[in-house]
Amino acid sequence: MATIGFIGLGNMGGPMAANLVKAGNKVKVFDLSDDAVAALVAEGAEQAKSAADAVADVEFVISMLPASKHVRSLYLEEQGIKGAIPKSALVIDSSTIDAATARELAVELNKVGVRFIDAPVSGGTAGAKSGTLTFICGGDEADIEEARAVLGQMGKNVFRAGEHGAGQVAKICNNMLLAILMAGTSEALQLGKANGLDPKVLSEIMLQSSGRNWTLEVYNPCPHVLEGVPSSNNYQGGFQVDLMKKDLGLAMDTAEQSGAVTALGKLVQSLYSEHSSEGSGKKDFSSIFNHFEPKRDA
Ligand code: NAD
Repeated sequence: MATIGFIGLGNMGGPMAANLVKAGNKVKVFDLSDDAVAALVAEGAEQAKSAADAVADVEFVISMLPASKHVRSLYLEEQGIKGAIPKSALVIDSSTIDAATARELAVELNKVGVRFIDAPVSGGTAGAKSGTLTFICGGDEADIEEARAVLGQMGKNVFRAGEHGAGQVAKICNNMLLAILMAGTSEALQLGKANGLDPKVLSEIMLQSSGRNWTLEVYNPCPHVLEGVPSSNNYQGGFQVDLMKKDLGLAMDTAEQSGAVTALGKLVQSLYSEHSSEGSGKKDFSSIFNHFEPKRDA
């Protein structure tokens, strides 16, 4: 059993913190949303008065916030909690942010004697609920080993991609591919549908054929092919289009800095941007399916 300060209780952080409570840890929680905090307190977590209060006297600090600016502001800015974290604690940031911010956090926290790892996740809200996430870590091997027991209560795989920031680079490579697969799967299903195929039957065929992929298997974007996924719930919950847009922006920035060629990443970034500007920013990212609706009757 560990003492953990958990900050950011949204679609992902909420169920992750709940799993830590269920595993018997003492979990102090903080979020800007009172409702999110109340939901965790109902699960047995301890309510913190502030972010600084959440990290007082803990062994681990875990943050799960939307983007780099939220993470920088939580730890490093004027009201930041950098000075409130016990020196013996290990900070684990599981938000998807840019690698440069992750490296900056490692350096700045190190200056006050606090250790840090970046540990973004894959597996979606279903993985967060079932405790089967994949953690993609960057940082010192010894720190990742120390985190392993706690991460294992929220996930089933813990990888070390390399030094600080490497977890974030691996994560955005994965999410760029995910965006491409989701758009490609949506396009193929809409093509079949527009030509009289039942999307359920087409999905079954492609699942046993060479088009098989994760989005088709566990996150089908066409409503009611699978139940219990965001597409069958009006694209509510899950992973917001605007968060995917953010991740594609991170991938494109990283490509530009390194000279990598990401032609498909660029294309899918423009598709998600258009989709967001059409009013779908808060929907689940599988709603890109609607972006491929036929434009005219055949
Ligand atoms: P979310 O918007 O549902 O939750 C974010 C939470 O952070 C909110 O409850 C918000 O109130 C809180 N918050 C923001 N600023 C805060 C602050 N300064 N102090 C305390 N709380 C603060 O987002 P999410 O879907 O849970 O995603 C979180 C991170 O995980 C993102 O970086 C996202 O890219 C990544 N991610 C999401 C998924 C997914 O399927 N949703 C999957 C993998 C990774």
